[in-house]
Parts: sequence; C-alpha cells; structure tokens
Amino acid sequence: MVEAAQRFNSSGLWGLGSFPVVRPRRLRLHRYVRGLVAEASLDPSRFILPVFVEEGLKAPRPLASLPGHMKYPLDGSLVEYVSKALEEGVRAFLLFASPSLRDFRGSKAWDPHGPAQEAVRLLRRELGWEPVVFADVCLCGYTEHGHCGYPRETPRGVMIENDASIDAYARTAVSLAEAGVDFVAPSGMMDGQVAAIRRALDEAGYSEVGIMSYSAKYASSFYGPFRDVMDSSPRFGDRRSYQMDPRNRMEALKEVALDLQEGADIVMVKPALSYLDVISEIKKAFPWAPLAAYNVSGEYLMVKAAAERGYVDHDSLMLEILYSIRRAGADIVITYHALEAARLLREGRVPF
Ligand SMILES: [Zn+2]
Repeated sequence: MVEAAQRFNSSGLWGLGSFPVVRPRRLRLHRYVRGLVAEASLDPSRFILPVFVEEGLKAPRPLASLPGHMKYPLDGSLVEYVSKALEEGVRAFLLFASPSLRDFRGSKAWDPHGPAQEAVRLLRRELGWEPVVFADVCLCGYTEHGHCGYPRETPRGVMIENDASIDAYARTAVSLAEAGVDFVAPSGMMDGQVAAIRRALDEAGYSEVGIMSYSAKYASSFYGPFRDVMDSSPRFGDRRSYQMDPRNRMEALKEVALDLQEGADIVMVKPALSYLDVISEIKKAFPWAPLAAYNVSGEYLMVKAAAERGYVDHDSLMLEILYSIRRAGADIVITYHALEAARLLREGRVPF
C-alpha cells in the first residue's frame, strides 16, 4: 500500500498509477469494450432533421448544394419523406419554408395560409402528433431584401431595426402555434426575440408551445449552401450587425443566459464544428439547459465533396463529426446527416 501510494505520488497524478500498472490500451482492445467505456453516445432520437418546403412547387426538387436533400411541395411527398424518417428513428424535424412571393415586410411568414403553416397542418393531418415539429422563425426567406429584420435608413446608413422585427417574429410564432408546431425556433439574432415570442405565445393561449432559440448564431461562411437553397442571402450589406462575431466565445454565454432568462426551452449554437469550444463552454456554464448544435450546410457539403473525390471515408468522417459535437456537450444535433447516420447506427456500422 505504501509503495502504491508512493508510486501515485511520484507520478504526480493522485489516484492514477502509471505504466506498467496502468495500460490504457486494455480498454481499446475489443470493439465492444470500447463501446462500454465510450463517453459520448449517438442515437437518432438526438437528431433533428431540417426539412425544406416551397409554396407552389409541383414536385420534389433535388438540391444541388445539399446532395441527398430535396425541397418538397405541400403534398404527399412531404408526408412520405417525414414518415420514412420516423421509421428510421428520426422523430424531430426543423421546417424551413419558401413563399412563392416575397414583400418588404415578409408578410407570408405570419400568413395563416403561408407555406410553413400549411406544411405543419398537412403533417398534423396525415401523421398526427408523432413527429416533433420545430419551425424556423425568421424573415430572411420571406423579405425582398433578404435580411432577418427590417432595414431602415438612418444617419449612420442602413440599419436593421430590432424592435419592429421582433414584433414580426412574435406574430409569426403565434401563427405557427395555431397551425400546430411543437417548438418555434427564432433564428434572427435580434435582441429580446425570445421574450417577445414567449409573451405573444402565452397571450394567445399557447403556453405549451416551446422555444428553441438560435442563441449563439455566428456570422459564418459555413451557411453558403443553405442560402443557395433558401435564396436568403441579403441583397445588400451583410448580417454582421446582428449575428455573432466568429472571434467571440464568452459572448455566447451572455446570449445564452439572456435567452434562458427570456424563456428559451432549448438553446442552440450554430454552426457546430468550428464552434465546439463554444458548445463546451455553454454546457459547463448551464449544465441544466438543453443544448442543440446545428451541424450546418457547409459542414455537410465539405464531407460530401471530400468523400466524392475519394479523399476521406464518408461514413467514418460523418460519424466522427457527429460524435465530436455530442462529446463537446450538445444534447441535440441538428444535421443533414440525420437519416444516413441513423441507418448506420441501426445497422451497428460504427467504425470505432
Ligand atoms: Zn434569417
């Protein structure tokens, strides 16, 4: 015992011996032992699959910038896609909708018969309450100018108005609640957006509808393929006056704290892969807060492009990335890989 204690002392690591007594490789020799001691787990029940719909579309349209994904019309093909995902064990969906017409205010966003509202109604009618439906709340896909809020001329130049924009988010959230969403997901990064939405939902009698907030959403170049799909690039300027600066980590804690205070049920970091430190920091600071990470379109496309050229093994790279996001501390992973990863996990084809 004395000898052992001395050994621990001399190793400088209390409670941990050293070689040859300790051999970490013993836990790596057998695949199933590696599974027993694995720290991070991955399960389709942790995934949210983004789904795209477009008003006026006649048939599903493959998305060149998001290979393997489609934009769906508001018909049976959307229902079929969601039911197939449910069968694969993916139960949660994040809906993005494109209107056939845009205007300055983005009024289709809160139109009771807008594409998002109609998509939710269709899913509820055909599939009941089994799918968990999240709907994105923003204006960039609905406005002519493509900004997430309302631009206004000021002596400083064009500014994106905060308070008028969150009023529009609140109206949109209530109309989505009426249609039957489980959660609304405000992504505009306006100050006070969660509080405005929570108040509006409660006043309208939808206290059961939750909020997943894009709390730490960065002004990132990883969104390229998504903006192509949604045609949501700003027509002028950029989003740096409202989305977060990629150089900042601690500021994310402020954004998350505010959102939780305002009533967010789930907070989110977007993108995921270049922001694993932010995910980890938030999980440490708010271990009780459900945390989602959005494995965005650019991250997805990099895997696809590199695999297509034969530079990497697609499946193992994809799973390594998804595990890393969970290991960093995300409870939920929003990912375009959801279906293919669910299939691999079900078949036990995990290359670790
Ligand atoms: Zn937006």
